[in-house]
Amino acid sequence: MRAIVIGGGIGGLATARGLGRQGWDVTVLERQPDLRQIGAGISLWPNAMRALHYLGIGDAVERAGGLVRGGGLRTWDGRWLSRVEVAAPPVMVHRADLHEILLDGLPATVRTGHPVTDVHALGDADLVVGADGIGSVVRAAYAPQVKVRDSGQVSWRAVVDAEVDGSGETMGPRGWRFGYAPTGPGTVYWYAAAPGPLRTGTPAEQLTELGKQLTGWHDPVRRLLAATTPGQLLHHPLLELHPVAPMHFGTRVALVGDAAHAMTPNLGQGACQALEDAVTLALLLPKGAAVMPALQVYDQQRRPRAAAVSRRSRQVGQLAGARGRLTGALARTLLRLTPDRMTAAAAQRVAGWTPDDVRIPSDVRPAAARR
Ligand SMILES: Cc1cc2nc3c(=O)[nH]c(=O)nc-3n(C[C@H](O)[C@H](O)[C@H](O)COP(=O)(O)OP(=O)(O)OC[C@H]3O[C@@H](n4cnc5c(N)ncnc54)[C@H](O)[C@@H]3O)c2cc1C
Repeated sequence: MRAIVIGGGIGGLATARGLGRQGWDVTVLERQPDLRQIGAGISLWPNAMRALHYLGIGDAVERAGGLVRGGGLRTWDGRWLSRVEVAAPPVMVHRADLHEILLDGLPATVRTGHPVTDVHALGDADLVVGADGIGSVVRAAYAPQVKVRDSGQVSWRAVVDAEVDGSGETMGPRGWRFGYAPTGPGTVYWYAAAPGPLRTGTPAEQLTELGKQLTGWHDPVRRLLAATTPGQLLHHPLLELHPVAPMHFGTRVALVGDAAHAMTPNLGQGACQALEDAVTLALLLPKGAAVMPALQVYDQQRRPRAAAVSRRSRQVGQLAGARGRLTGALARTLLRLTPDRMTAAAAQRVAGWTPDDVRIPSDVRPAAARR
């Protein structure tokens, strides 16, 4: 059975790995001339790590990254609003390392420099998976009602050479936020988020603006900014899809990852959900499975879950990014008064997914397995 996966991002490569393990003949079509990733960190919560272990690469990712310990939420002067030591912390890894691990020994053919413009002209594959990100041509062809929504906030990110003790996020005035975590020994991923439009200044000018906005913030905020060169700085709007797209169309088309449910990064779950998609699809589609019923079940199981995580992520962003003096103070009070165990329980609900949660109805199993 032949599958075409459009897009060689985290979702596409994980899907190719999962289907390849199930005996599919997989081709990945990627528009970029190569699969090199620009550098930033990515947090992989236990749900994502379980998916990566199912795909056979969890150990390699654990070796490449660092465990995020000692997390919590502070105000800019260093006062703790909450301290959460979750039982199973996320792994923070450099995106380039994750990509390299996903590609290593990939049981699929990858064609780079191959942009797909017409999803209806892809020949006679048994399965077509749109893993082509927030601007998906596959989604545009089948679900044009789904729109990209701007959260009204922007982010800056970098991975720099530095040492930090623990990790955490800090809330400041006017809806500014800053977070950091080690990606391994001697390297740290940091991000800042703020309300407002995408800035148009050069990276050097933006670093200067960050320095001004974050004056007086506790250690290591200023130290991490000082360790950042303009070339390391990434700047993006925080976007999401609304509503979450259907994840199955017709007899053979599915969506995974941001193509279906791009979400704001406030929970660090976008790629984690793409990995859940990839493993669910693979579990529902062993070689010989009936494709269309399996895709219907895939949509039934994945769409509500991704929509719930996306909604929660948006709510967290609205609370943490409240820009008014009063709304900001209220948000900080609310967060301070939320018991740490409730915060940990909410994180556990999102990160508790395992491949065992995938329900495989008997009518989608391959005929041989049903007998
Ligand atoms: C600031 C920020 C921080 C984040 N932090 C985290 C985090 O800590 N943890 C987490 O889990 N998630 C995080 N995310 C979300 C995460 O980055 C995404 O959810 C994830 O990368 C989605 O992967 P994907 O493969 O679905 O899409 P993408 O990464 O967008 O990959 C899509 C691929 O498809 C290719 N493509 C597009 N169109 C075509 C076409 N027509 N033909 C062929 N190829 C095509 C693209 O070139 C690309 O390679 C963050 C996002 C942002 C913006």
